[in-house]
Amino acid sequence: MSAEHSGGTVTTVGSSFVVSIVLPAYNEALGLGAAVESIRKVLHSSDVGYEIIVVDDGSSDATFKEIERLNASDGNIKGIRLSRKFGKESALLAGLRTADGAVAITMDADLQHPPELIPEMLKEWRNGAKVVHAMKRDRQIDGWFTRSSAALFNKLLSLTSGLNMRGASDFKLLDRTVINLLVDELPERGRFYRGLAGWAGFKQSSVPFDVVERDTGKGKWSGFALFDLALTAITSFTSAPLRVITILGAVTLVFGIVVSVEALWSWFRGYSVSGFVTIIITLLLIGSFIMISLGIIGEYIAKIYAEVKDRPPYIVESTCGLDRNSRSQTSFD
Ligand code: UDP
Ligand code: MG
Repeated sequence: MSAEHSGGTVTTVGSSFVVSIVLPAYNEALGLGAAVESIRKVLHSSDVGYEIIVVDDGSSDATFKEIERLNASDGNIKGIRLSRKFGKESALLAGLRTADGAVAITMDADLQHPPELIPEMLKEWRNGAKVVHAMKRDRQIDGWFTRSSAALFNKLLSLTSGLNMRGASDFKLLDRTVINLLVDELPERGRFYRGLAGWAGFKQSSVPFDVVERDTGKGKWSGFALFDLALTAITSFTSAPLRVITILGAVTLVFGIVVSVEALWSWFRGYSVSGFVTIIITLLLIGSFIMISLGIIGEYIAKIYAEVKDRPPYIVESTCGLDRNSRSQTSFD
């Protein structure tokens, strides 16, 4: 790596690059060319060396062909093809592992993360920030339900884990220090990039942006994938749900004691204990509490199981524009 970052100034040596752009792409063949082109334009006008690493997350369309076509016209555009769809988190990790720049910028391949923000992010970095978050200013294009559920989720997560996820996105700039930390020092498999970048610490800063409508294709997140991401976020950053179970147990115990005392009291006084409906309701309620609690514990056990299995987070099928010794080939380290 001949690009250097020292004392807050960027020095490019020869034709080496400074910025590694990481684009996870799943079935983005249609819009990828345009996205890469506008990113290149911005990078050219900011006069920084660059590489653009597109990680094809096992697309079923011609995404990788498109990457190869782009690589033929500009060698700075490189590709990694994963052997199947491993998900955006894994694709991001594959890209960051391969990134060789003094900074990496992760963004979506659908132009919903405006490339025009890159110079501003670089400015923050030159001012000493090690992580620059691009913060979503508003989500007017999303429906009411999406917006309020995102807000509720962010609120819950910040309350329980201390991470502030308001307006958080995967559009981020990372300094080499933080890239190395995320790639080499964190062995965990179930990753939540958005949270980890903030968790890393160092000097962090943020720049706001507006989310725009997708040009081509459609969103790749099914309701289930989003639910899974939310679970990963929660289980990897907080054990608050487990504590809630304990608290719930304590509350039920107090309630149980009160009801038992009342029932015994009536019995001693010769009244028969009535209230079949009460019994049914209590049984059902407590039964549900127990099942939900088991489910919550199960989620944590499943995460532990996944970590213990220690399977690689992704498998590289082929690469394009990267030499064989590239770090992308060592997905099993
Ligand atoms: N993506 C991916 N794997 C997935 C889902 C999404 O690599 O399993 C990529 C996708 O190609 C895009 C980015 O992640 O570049 C964001 O996806 P999308 O636009 O569907 O999400 P949203 O804009 O709704 O956050
Ligand atoms: Mg998108």
